[in-house]
Amino acid sequence: MKNIVPDISTLYRLPYSKNDNPNGWVEITTHCNLNCPGCYRGCDRDDNVAIHEKLEDVKNNIKEIQKIRNCQIISISGGEPLMHPNIVEIVAFVKKSGMIPFVHTNGVLLTEELISKLKKNGLGGLIIRVDSLSENRKNNEKELNKTRKMYGEMIAKIKGVHLTFLCVVNSENINEIGHVIDWSIKNARLVDFVTFIPMRQIKFEKDDVVDKSMFVSIEDLCREVSKRVPDVQYASYLGGTVALKSIKWLQSPWIILNGKIIGYAGSKFIEFFQVTHHLLTGRYAYKFGKDRSYLSFPVILLLSLFFRNFRKVAWNYFKEIIKNPLNLFRRATLQLLCFIIPPDVVNGKNDLCESCPDAIMHNGELVPSCALEEIKKHGSLLTER
Ligand code: SF4
Repeated sequence: MKNIVPDISTLYRLPYSKNDNPNGWVEITTHCNLNCPGCYRGCDRDDNVAIHEKLEDVKNNIKEIQKIRNCQIISISGGEPLMHPNIVEIVAFVKKSGMIPFVHTNGVLLTEELISKLKKNGLGGLIIRVDSLSENRKNNEKELNKTRKMYGEMIAKIKGVHLTFLCVVNSENINEIGHVIDWSIKNARLVDFVTFIPMRQIKFEKDDVVDKSMFVSIEDLCREVSKRVPDVQYASYLGGTVALKSIKWLQSPWIILNGKIIGYAGSKFIEFFQVTHHLLTGRYAYKFGKDRSYLSFPVILLLSLFFRNFRKVAWNYFKEIIKNPLNLFRRATLQLLCFIIPPDVVNGKNDLCESCPDAIMHNGELVPSCALEEIKKHGSLLTER
């Protein structure tokens, strides 16, 4: 029987490292307008001290990360970064520094006016958490597709903003993620990346009891995807720091036309893309394309000369053109499905994402942002889970 989780030998290992990583991570506030259960930053806790980082400190942090990480994008996170009084200046500063600002948000404060203002100041992308485990969203994942659509359409009006939907998953909503996948494929014109993150629990106090009963694994995610997309092909991954074969990031770049997957970019293409991007720009890439990730038929034909996967894509695209010649002038979307698996304890050690792309500066060191609170409180990530 075919393994649900791909073997790492079939995948391209993303070439990220501590000092050459497309993503830099900064957290500019511990204020939040929601109290999502299980927040890694503890924004839902009574002892959360809500502060906005000073603009000068944020700028210095960004400069330092740029020197260390060689990043393409800076992920501006929090708390809820849109609550920071200087969010527009921070976005503009990242842009002026030669990187692409991406803002992580729960979406509550997003308006067309704000997105437009941020875009004018250099915003490259929004990463919006929408899932039924957040504090304000009690609906199921299928109903939440209306919310995703509302944000997608709002953002599409401001052309050129890359959009990721992030969905936190546990045993309560794992069997609903098929609805998120179906919706993302049908609405590929609106959404570039769809990311699922299994929920884990931080130990704020040493005697906190970790309840694993609702945790889901990469196997569960792959199983749910294969129910909706039986021929899914994964292309790239990041391994773990402990288990020899663990997969902490897993990605499938699928190509969509008219709401249907017409093929997969494949691991060789991703390798070519990353290596060429680095040769040409000196940095690895976090995203495809200048802003959104579209591919025209001529580009797909060209790629099919070099990459076997694209021959199937070109053929399926051609069949769509035969059905309706106007499809020749439409562009397909290269959409990325991504899983990010937070630390699990393996052999008494924390299996973290190798070359963690979401590492944050703390006391002069780079530490995984998911581990920050335990490191602050206990000096290291705890292993009694
Ligand atoms: S912050 Fe944690 S979950 Fe995120 S990439 Fe780093 S190690 Fe992985």
